Amino acid sequence: NNQRLFVARDITQLHRTNRIRSDFVANVSHELKTPITVLRSYLETMSGQQELCPPTWKNGLQQMLDHVKRMQNVVEDLLTLSKLEQSNHVEERKPVVVSAMITDIHRLAKNLEDHSEHIFVLEIDTNLEILGSTNELFSCFSNLVFNAIHYTEARGVIEINWYRDESGAHFSVTDNGQGIPAEKIPRLTERFYRVDRARTRALGGTGLGLAVVNHVLTRHDATLYIESEVGVGSTFRCDFPLESMSNNQPDSANDRTA
Ligand code: ADP
Repeated sequence: NNQRLFVARDITQLHRTNRIRSDFVANVSHELKTPITVLRSYLETMSGQQELCPPTWKNGLQQMLDHVKRMQNVVEDLLTLSKLEQSNHVEERKPVVVSAMITDIHRLAKNLEDHSEHIFVLEIDTNLEILGSTNELFSCFSNLVFNAIHYTEARGVIEINWYRDESGAHFSVTDNGQGIPAEKIPRLTERFYRVDRARTRALGGTGLGLAVVNHVLTRHDATLYIESEVGVGSTFRCDFPLESMSNNQPDSANDRTA
């Protein structure tokens, strides 16, 4: 009836609790960093001098080393997340040459691949740059490309696109891998969420990669769009608004490599 309701709620307590939670995670991760590094370096030294160790230790040493490496990855990802959580905006945005970054990620991905012979198809607008943080965007885009490799069988096809349209700039990775059930998609960016826990752990995943991706995108006023079908494949797309584009030449050069 042409009336309005104005609601104000004091969320100080909620804000404080969130702050305590993120400080706690950051402090614990920071405290664990050094002991884990020490453990890892001793274990690596011992594994390298197996002739000095009783043969029955071999298996145990290897298992300890594998788990310490995984712990180190988790702690590093948690520290990255804590840093990203400190604010919702990148303070100092600089022009980022995304095409060069994609070429680096592609090279890195090919080196890391253990002969799975994925086929990469790259379609990149070489004139398209955005304003942002190079380190954060590298971490975001590389997470998506490495996930596509991890969750796509050998000789699968991975497409990487960097393009613009009337709504802004877009980075997308499409694979023809195992896909994700529709009901699980909304939970993917939660910390430690994995679709198949046992399998992902075996692959060395931390379950934090997409949480990092989501935070980086929020800090760039961008959003993550996920489309997937089990047995068909997945597309992860980062949508950047028009304002984040640092140059606006309409006639862009497109590079296509396979
Ligand atoms: P992880 O370190 O486990 O890969 P992420 O946060 O990067 O953590 O991903 C969360 C989960 O999302 C993964 O465990 C996996 O189940 C699923 N996932 C991510 N990318 C893909 C993909 N390209 N294809 C299928 N599943 C994926």
